[in-house]
Amino acid sequence: MASFTQADLKDLNETFEHDSPADLLRWAKEIFGERIAALSALQRAGCVVCHMMGGLKLDIPVLFVDTGVNFQETLETRDRVAREYGLKIISLEPSQTMEAQTEQYGVLYLTPEGQKQCCLMRKTEPLLQAKGQFDCLVGSLRQADGGRRGNVPILSIDTQMNCLRINPLAKMTDEDLEAYLVQHKVIVNPLHSQGYTTIGCNRCTTPVLSNEPKRAGRWRHLGSWSAYCEINPTDRDGGISKSIDLPADLIDRILGRSTDFAI
Ligand code: SF4
Repeated sequence: MASFTQADLKDLNETFEHDSPADLLRWAKEIFGERIAALSALQRAGCVVCHMMGGLKLDIPVLFVDTGVNFQETLETRDRVAREYGLKIISLEPSQTMEAQTEQYGVLYLTPEGQKQCCLMRKTEPLLQAKGQFDCLVGSLRQADGGRRGNVPILSIDTQMNCLRINPLAKMTDEDLEAYLVQHKVIVNPLHSQGYTTIGCNRCTTPVLSNEPKRAGRWRHLGSWSAYCEINPTDRDGGISKSIDLPADLIDRILGRSTDFAI
């Protein structure tokens, strides 16, 4: 194993600046083989990534964190995407039902500290069940999302999962996303057309008014409009993580270094 840092990705991120999302997905599959998965909550950008992966027949499984309190519409979107795009979607679940958690800890999501604990138990810990199985996770974050995602790099490292994160849509504008959705008739969560700009758990998501920020409907009851569940490293630390450990030959492949085996 060798140490790999975000700084190691700087040049590669620059060379990827003008690559299409499809090129980035093909590159990632070629480099990581069976050790790549996507992570998606099946929101609009996530559905675009799923549509692309299905069309390219990359055979990349999708991890979906089923918190037990997702909207029924979200679960139906997950099942439709799996069926119609030919994707294997793996649902990861918390160790406790929401009822059991509430009995033990009370209603956590009503306070900022409780929200962090609840998201940790119902989102981060289920994802950690997959730690060690994948060296790369495909996400659907975009710089156009703004907030903590305003500078999301195409490639970043995730110290918690000890893997790379690739966001092939990082450079995609709102207009381009909209155009792709329409042109390809992408399956989307029907809640989006009911005023839900972003969609998480049913306990913590509301529709937004047209003059509100996109994320105003997430944890509205906490007031700040700045909460994140922190399942994405960019939302935790701005993408400037420390280091992860990967096999040296994999690092060479990622960085495009040829290895001379003739000694
Ligand atoms: S979004 Fe709300 S209900 Fe869902 S895990 Fe986070 S705090 Fe809990």
